[in-house]
Amino acid sequence: MSTANTQHYDVIIAGARCAGAATALLLARQGARVLVLDKSRYGTDTLSTHALMRGAVLQLHRWGLLPAVAGAETPPVRSTTFHLADAVTTIPVKPKHGVEALYAPRRRVLDAILADAARGAGADVRFGATVTGLRRDRAGRVTGITGRAGAVPLEARADLVIGADGRRSAVARYVGARATHVATASSVLIYRYVRAEAADGYHWYYGAGSAAGVIPTNDGLACVFAATSAERLREPDRGADAAWRRILGRAAPGLAERLEHQGAAGPPRMFPGLTGYLRDAAGPGWALVGDAGYFKDPITAHGITDALRDAEILARVIVTEGPDAVGRYQAERDELSRRLFRVTGRIATFDWTADEIGGHLFELGEAMAEEAAAMTAGGPGLRLELASA
Ligand SMILES: Cc1cc2nc3c(=O)[nH]c(=O)nc-3n(C[C@H](O)[C@H](O)[C@H](O)COP(=O)(O)OP(=O)(O)OC[C@H]3O[C@@H](n4cnc5c(N)ncnc54)[C@H](O)[C@@H]3O)c2cc1C
Repeated sequence: MSTANTQHYDVIIAGARCAGAATALLLARQGARVLVLDKSRYGTDTLSTHALMRGAVLQLHRWGLLPAVAGAETPPVRSTTFHLADAVTTIPVKPKHGVEALYAPRRRVLDAILADAARGAGADVRFGATVTGLRRDRAGRVTGITGRAGAVPLEARADLVIGADGRRSAVARYVGARATHVATASSVLIYRYVRAEAADGYHWYYGAGSAAGVIPTNDGLACVFAATSAERLREPDRGADAAWRRILGRAAPGLAERLEHQGAAGPPRMFPGLTGYLRDAAGPGWALVGDAGYFKDPITAHGITDALRDAEILARVIVTEGPDAVGRYQAERDELSRRLFRVTGRIATFDWTADEIGGHLFELGEAMAEEAAAMTAGGPGLRLELASA
């Protein structure tokens, strides 16, 4: 292949969304030379209901990026309301560790803020650039990437190549990363946006074999999702709109009735489901972060929170111990992920009674609280002290 660029970087990252851009930001702020390539366009949405949990908001606050999220007119979420059978419980978001509210920014907002911050910290961030292969030395260690930016071939070397390239990670495929844990169930999730000028926090609904949620986001809209298991999604269902209404009617009949005559903003988007996994996340010259190495069912809306967490663990290990110590990152990631992965898998079966889902949600809350505690000072050495941009 002709070589348009054989520069050497400390780290090359494939993927510039929440996992890749956050990792690039943290490394660049520590003085690392970082190249980030993303095959998509800058500032675009991706399949996601984009709800951030406390851990993610905490990270954004510490990295100095929360004002940009709020400044994009992302509405603050000050409570979470659970609707189970006839019981409705509202839990206010307690102001703690600089987090006064949660947020659910559209991905075109959040991912652009992270990419801009990475660039501002000195990372070389390029969109429309695809990683198409890895370079290796004689011992098999990964030493760089090959790729292309439009029709222009690209080649670059690095001490470490990070795959932050999502669920269909090419980097994971190239290095042959094994799945170490695989979930047994997955959700079909359909969402669309509706007008909601006065949305009042997150709402999660659980009904027979189904779940739904309302997530206030930018532009005076709320993302309304409906989810069930693939087996319960009857075929043919006259398309995603009919399926969304039918599942919503089961999980949240009152909400479905209110929305029956309300027009939606844009078409429904459907995620057909994917079984969750934890993959090997590190090897000689490579690491995986975000969905590339760890995916769990979207029913617990936690992938972004974990991607930001793992970006920080990975960056800290690289900065403090060097690129050969990335195995320690995997150990920490796995330790912090197992409980949440397990309970998410149970919820994604949709085989629970009203009592059982209450128990699963309680466990989910505990797992999330443990994670948030680990991300604050006094947690198990998670923090990478960073000057804000
Ligand atoms: C339906 C659905 C709803 C969800 N809802 C929520 C939610 O409410 N809250 C939450 O926290 N999480 C949610 N998630 C999970 C969340 O979206 C993911 O965990 C998150 O997007 C992972 O971020 P990432 O950066 O690892 O990967 P991605 O967001 O998938 O980004 C990967 C990037 O890599 C790029 N890329 C891919 N291949 C290459 C290549 N070869 N070269 C260069 N670039 C490449 C892609 O263009 C892409 O931009 C949801 C997921 C789904 C499917």
